[in-house]
Amino acid sequence: MNVQEFIDDLRSRFPHEPEYIQAVEEVVSTIGDVYDRYPAFKNVNLLERLCIPDRIISFRVSWVDDKGRVRNNMGYRVQHNNAIGPYKGGIRFHSSVNLSILKFLAFEQTFKNSLTTLSMGGAKGGSDFSPRGKSDMEIMRFCQAFITELWRQLGPDMDVPAGDIGVGAREVGYMFGWYKKMTREYNGTFTGKGLDFGGSLIRPEATGYGNVYFLLNMLATRGIDLAGKKVAISGSGNVALYTAEKLLSLGAKVVSFSDSDGSIVVPEGITKEQFDEIFDLKTMYRGRISEFAEKHPDICTYYPRERPWRHVQADIAMPSATQNELDGEDARALLANGCIAVSEGANMPSTPEAIREFQNARILYAPGKAANAGGVSVSGLEMAQNSQKLSWTAEEVDARLKGIMADIHEQCVKYGTAPDGYIDYVRGANTAGFLKVARAMYAQGVL
Ligand code: NDP
Repeated sequence: MNVQEFIDDLRSRFPHEPEYIQAVEEVVSTIGDVYDRYPAFKNVNLLERLCIPDRIISFRVSWVDDKGRVRNNMGYRVQHNNAIGPYKGGIRFHSSVNLSILKFLAFEQTFKNSLTTLSMGGAKGGSDFSPRGKSDMEIMRFCQAFITELWRQLGPDMDVPAGDIGVGAREVGYMFGWYKKMTREYNGTFTGKGLDFGGSLIRPEATGYGNVYFLLNMLATRGIDLAGKKVAISGSGNVALYTAEKLLSLGAKVVSFSDSDGSIVVPEGITKEQFDEIFDLKTMYRGRISEFAEKHPDICTYYPRERPWRHVQADIAMPSATQNELDGEDARALLANGCIAVSEGANMPSTPEAIREFQNARILYAPGKAANAGGVSVSGLEMAQNSQKLSWTAEEVDARLKGIMADIHEQCVKYGTAPDGYIDYVRGANTAGFLKVARAMYAQGVL
């Protein structure tokens, strides 16, 4: 079966899962020649086993809201692959969550975790529950009901969840607490925990910081300096905010943020004081990004229900909100305005058409599975600290994070450099991620 036949077959078996098919197609279309070089892999139908999750757990989550009404959501855990370590991947709470999205995320996670060089398999979970507008007590009751269904499938050597969209320190704390209550065990089953109960320093910052470290590695291949560059960011959650913080500390200018209601564009870039204001608005008050625009109409324009890409003049784009948030038209607008690099904080934020535009223009383009791997890398370091019952300093974790991002970059260069010298980070990341998992699967037999 060739690549196209393989994708067609998958599409006919999972016709209602477009994001999952999109993610598989992107990977399979770049590793076909490597796969062909290993007939032994073909003999055990390894590719199909690698693309279809090991198992999917789905369940109803019933909980009681503050008015005493019983509410029902769907809950899922996709345990994609544990060939190189325990299942590992975040939990997403958002109204858009469905099985297609979680299958794509778990598939991507498997390759990303392989790239980190740490021992972690791939998984993802979540619910169509939206924390937005819910009270703390409602969120706690929901998290407890979610874990009541899921706890049997989790464990420090079995499956270790973390945060993702809609799941931050508060939600991880509630889930970890209930997991502990159900199991009567205190262990490192969750990452992204609070610092007082086993969390790692730098974990909240890791995805954003790691993305900037990856960007620095990419820019260095062309001798480009980050200082003074204008950077467009989307989202204004965990990843977006720590990306911006690190960029500002390195002298870059941050010219946009967004949330699901719209985008702000600040053509001259925000100051550190304005960043602190946005940080507090989003993290302490759970406010909307439009509130910043209302307070600063002199420096800032708000675009309701729009993404920032067509409105910014930026040297660099770092999409950090959600999947498929940057399409072909957006890519052409960014390129026309002088964009020279894209480094993805979100998972699969660029559509296939946008990726083609970036690569055809020969600009630096890093897919999320490489550029945003810093988060799960520090999660891996949190697991290591938990099993040693030790805490490392922020400097130590940050230094390891930098080292891991440099390593991932090196793997991309090794497997992705084209004959003309252009570094195809998609091919590089997919090939490096694939080879490690494939070799492990092959060695372990047909399971
Ligand atoms: P948060 O929930 O902290 O923030 C998400 C941000 O994206 C919010 O500003 C949110 O706006 C916006 N957003 C979410 N959904 C949509 C949508 N459908 N349309 C427009 N905007 C949207 O999540 P994170 O920052 O943790 O995650 C962001 C991305 O990074 C995701 O793709 C995630 O998978 C990826 N990622 C996260 C990691 C982590 O460590 N947290 C690790 C690796 C990847 P609003 O507030 O209005 O919902």
